[in-house]
Amino acid sequence: MSHIAVVGASLAGLRAAEALRREGFDGELTIVGSESHLPYDRPPLSKDYLLGNVAAADITLADQATRDALEARWILGQAATNLHPGQVTIADGETLSADGIVIATGARARTLPNGGDLPGIHVLRTLDDAIALSRELDSAHRVVIVGAGFIGAEVASTAATLGKRVTIVEAATNPFETHLGRVAADVLRRTMNDHDVELRTGQTVAEFRGAERISAIVLNDGTQLPADLVLIGIGAIPNTEWLDRSGVRCDNGVLTDAWGRTSLPGVVAAGDVARFQRGDRRVRVEHWSTASGMPGVAARALLAHLSAGEPGTPYLDAPYFWSDQFGHRIQLVGAIAPDVPLDIVDGAVEDARFVAVQYRDNAINAVLGWSMPREFTQWRRRNHDALRAAGSETDRVEPALLTSADRSE
Ligand code: FAD
Repeated sequence: MSHIAVVGASLAGLRAAEALRREGFDGELTIVGSESHLPYDRPPLSKDYLLGNVAAADITLADQATRDALEARWILGQAATNLHPGQVTIADGETLSADGIVIATGARARTLPNGGDLPGIHVLRTLDDAIALSRELDSAHRVVIVGAGFIGAEVASTAATLGKRVTIVEAATNPFETHLGRVAADVLRRTMNDHDVELRTGQTVAEFRGAERISAIVLNDGTQLPADLVLIGIGAIPNTEWLDRSGVRCDNGVLTDAWGRTSLPGVVAAGDVARFQRGDRRVRVEHWSTASGMPGVAARALLAHLSAGEPGTPYLDAPYFWSDQFGHRIQLVGAIAPDVPLDIVDGAVEDARFVAVQYRDNAINAVLGWSMPREFTQWRRRNHDALRAAGSETDRVEPALLTSADRSE
């Protein structure tokens, strides 16, 4: 075994490369990335970077020591354009022959079909996006954010902290409710209100107005909102187009099994781009922890394939994310089921400091933490341990694993 190519030079690609070396792969390693930057951490882009608390150099994931240990060839600023079994083609025409391939091409920001290309309209996915946004945010007074997802809410929080007048426009009538449940959605609405962030729900953008740059957006009910700067935060699309002629099966992401193995032998995928098997469903999880944890499993599975060995334990971690906004740390492990109430197990909702647990079929389905990171982690660990224990018996795993006996402990 002599050469593995990792496509995508961000969190998942880096973690895959690190895991390959850790697992003893001593062949040639090439990491291809379409951005010109070495891997960096995206979560600070909407938070501390935009606030000016950290610089680009502070958010690198691949310092000199990390790069030295990897002994990899880096091809940056070049997209991979195609893949065949044993081969990756790069935009400049070079073809890499590889015994194994890791797909870690992540996702890109979704844009709106009705224009949105006037100067002053931004998305936020990359460091270059953050640099452009940060530059214009300085002089903006009225900021409109389209989409009340986590990135939208975090940028709203940052802009409000910087003294901007912020409005969020959201198509859903009850934003946050699907992800956080009703109680937490109410807390977040209240928090935004306390920080003078206006939330306009059930509204979409009918038109972007402006001559040389954005000056206003018109909503579907005819309301015109003046805007010096607009951020579109309406989700992300997996970067799979480059695989269209490759034979790797894709459907809203690269389809994989629970080890990250794709439809092509010797090709694995991990991170935001992977839609992997979890129980009887396939899921694509756009969280930092999945992009950090899953590549190790995929790397081991790839090495096992190349040495005709066993792939080891599948990726079983329950989805986890955190979000920092309006002075609160919001954390969620598992996925909140609609219409199932949450029990407050610590703190108080009125204080915007609590841990809430959702039980389903006498098992923990999700744990939500609001500005109580230590207590949240204690609950999370219990769920995680239970998940691991169940995973050793079956690969049909849902993150709903604490029994009623655990609950009464
Ligand atoms: P990406 O980070 O998307 O990296 C994929 C890389 O592949 C990119 O550099 C891309 O340019 C490159 N690429 C794409 N196509 C090609 C190609 N054809 N050839 C070569 N290279 C290619 N998660 C949390 O849990 N908590 C948070 O608070 C949080 N905050 C976030 C804030 C922001 C602003 C953003 C954008 C994300 C945030 N996330 C957060 C999500 C988290 O950062 C992602 O889940 C993580 O970055 C995914 O890593 P990845 O390596 O799978 O994909």
